[in-house]
Amino acid sequence: MKNTMFLGLNKTGNLLLSPPMGGGLGQFRNHGPRNMRRIALTFDDGPSKPCTEELIEAMGEMNVKGTFFCVGQNAVINADLLRRMDAEGHVIGNHSLAHRRITSIKPWGGDHIDEGARYIGKILGKLPRLYRPPWGWLTPWEGRRLHQRGYTIVGWDVYTLDWCIPEIDGHAIADKARRITRPGSMLLFHDAYPGAQFWQKRETTRAIKRIVPALRAEGYEFVTVPELLNVAGYTSL
Ligand SMILES: [Zn+2]
Repeated sequence: MKNTMFLGLNKTGNLLLSPPMGGGLGQFRNHGPRNMRRIALTFDDGPSKPCTEELIEAMGEMNVKGTFFCVGQNAVINADLLRRMDAEGHVIGNHSLAHRRITSIKPWGGDHIDEGARYIGKILGKLPRLYRPPWGWLTPWEGRRLHQRGYTIVGWDVYTLDWCIPEIDGHAIADKARRITRPGSMLLFHDAYPGAQFWQKRETTRAIKRIVPALRAEGYEFVTVPELLNVAGYTSL
């Protein structure tokens, strides 16, 4: 019974609140300006080794910066990697403490967001001000609370299936994502599986290596989410 209720809530949450369907009741930013060929690569659920390491190495070679929505618990395990990402110009956003959807349902909730920010803040010396909820599932009370605290709630408009297990061919993922990318797009990828701190995930990196030069050839410029949306990435501790 409890399980049925939980699944029901999940389903309703996804249907009503997830970006881009319904736009999360207006709480999300799902894309940037549509009149400029600027786009952002975003990655959820990390950091993890060796996936995130391989990914940022590839991105470094292509000189492209991404925005990583990190799970607080993963950040602590991979603190050195988080510092390296920051030092190399990538932006770190908050993706909650432990990627558990049930915590969002409580009307008095919010600890999973604050704790995620605290964990990341302790490592980087600054607090993230971008938040992407696990599975894109946000309750209206969470949205209100986040906006009051100066957060930008970040969705996406280009969804990829790079989270699937077994992994889908990275070139196919890239080609599909490229076809639906528009000026201002925010593309969603994953550099871990929720809760996994150590993860081998080769196809996401292959997808990025293919899509970056392809979209650049179409005149697109890759920027971080704060640059794309003209918002703050961090606030002081
Ligand atoms: Zn996630």
